Amino acid sequence: MFGKILIANRGEIALRIQRACREMGIRTVAVHSTADAEAKYVKLADESVCIGPPPSRDSYLNIPAIISAAEVTDAEAIHPGYGFLSENADFAERVEKSGFVFIGPRPESIRLMGDKVSAKQAMKAAGVPTVPGSDGALPEDPREVVRLARAIGYPVIVKAAGGGGGRGMRVVHTEAALVNAVNMTRQEAQTAFGNPAVYLEKFLENPRHIEIQVLADQHKNALWLGERDCSMQRRHQKIIEEAPAPGIARKIIERIGDRCAEACRKIGYRGAGTFEFLYERDQFYFIEMNTRLQVEHPVTEWVTGLDLVQLQIRVAAGEKLALRQRDIALKGHAIECRINAEDPYKFTPSPGRITGWHPPGGPGVRVDSHVYSGYMVPSNYDSMIGKVICYGDSREQAIARMRIALSEMVVEGIATNIPLHRDLMLDQKFIQGGTSIHYLEERLASRP
Ligand code: ADP
Repeated sequence: MFGKILIANRGEIALRIQRACREMGIRTVAVHSTADAEAKYVKLADESVCIGPPPSRDSYLNIPAIISAAEVTDAEAIHPGYGFLSENADFAERVEKSGFVFIGPRPESIRLMGDKVSAKQAMKAAGVPTVPGSDGALPEDPREVVRLARAIGYPVIVKAAGGGGGRGMRVVHTEAALVNAVNMTRQEAQTAFGNPAVYLEKFLENPRHIEIQVLADQHKNALWLGERDCSMQRRHQKIIEEAPAPGIARKIIERIGDRCAEACRKIGYRGAGTFEFLYERDQFYFIEMNTRLQVEHPVTEWVTGLDLVQLQIRVAAGEKLALRQRDIALKGHAIECRINAEDPYKFTPSPGRITGWHPPGGPGVRVDSHVYSGYMVPSNYDSMIGKVICYGDSREQAIARMRIALSEMVVEGIATNIPLHRDLMLDQKFIQGGTSIHYLEERLASRP
């Protein structure tokens, strides 16, 4: 096992990884920008190194600074967390070439899945169902593009192969609008992602977002660890996640889960990963794979009883998975609310000093957060300041506990989206379960 790990991230996930390391007796190195110098989790780490000024590109995305921090502290491995450099194949390669272990997949897997066209083709070949669409990037000839869209049937969605974070997508309802939409998406994709390749997909009108968590070791063993429903989204950003997904027959989920584990074996995947699907009328359609730990991993941890971060570290160190698929049993229900420093209905960011922090507690409540009374939320990064995760024997109990937890929770000095979460825990459609990816935005739009 590693003696020392460098954590190339910040905020709640840096603290989460640090906790896993401490439990395993592994020393930790925190890297931080000047904006995070005073954060408590930085002081809690065994060592810390300042890697640059507040802007991410000069600090948390600064590859040479992170590699030299690992060198001067004699770290053996680097955990990238999520966001920042976690899905950057060049970073993974540089880490390994510099003699450190990258706690994540091989750079080839990150590269394969980072391009949505090659990811879809690889998954199709591995027997995972994908959204019907153009097989690969669109050709230049507009007549050919029109023919492809007709074959798929309208509405279609034009997507950039290099897209991410909900950007580089355009829905097209009629043939008249198609060629112009394709050209505009191409131009945007070139500017934003440096890759003009775009492709077509059938636009699904009312899907749910269901994802499968996988974990693979370096000895060809791969498991799937249940599913998560992440349909509560605004602007393609998830705000509530839960496990298991309400109202879907276990048989249907088991079939897709087994396919995902099999696909991992076929592509020689290692580490933790997530297969994202749209789900409509009992069918799963692969949209993309995330080759890293996800924000919403705690709901899976709670229903499986596993520590995903510790397992990531173990497989990165070369250990064989001790678990078999039949050992994975899901128990109870878990829900996560992402707590953001933002106006609950206008969504404008609300950085600043937290003057009072009163997190909830009690049975079935977990709070993953790095903040405290007196903590300064910097304006340079993502607005998420923590996550409240509640567990119950049933979904009803998990929701009831989340209501209590949110009613106890007080954050003073900045605005947060806690009032929105309180509303949603009383929403009849959410309580029923199984809402589509459009539900939250429709509900917000109809607010008086
Ligand atoms: P990103 O990498 O930017 O997150 P995804 O391919 O994962 O892009 O898609 C993000 C979101 O866009 C999905 O969760 C869904 O809400 C919507 N979306 C993507 N593809 C389709 C589709 N074919 N039909 C309907 N909605 C889609």
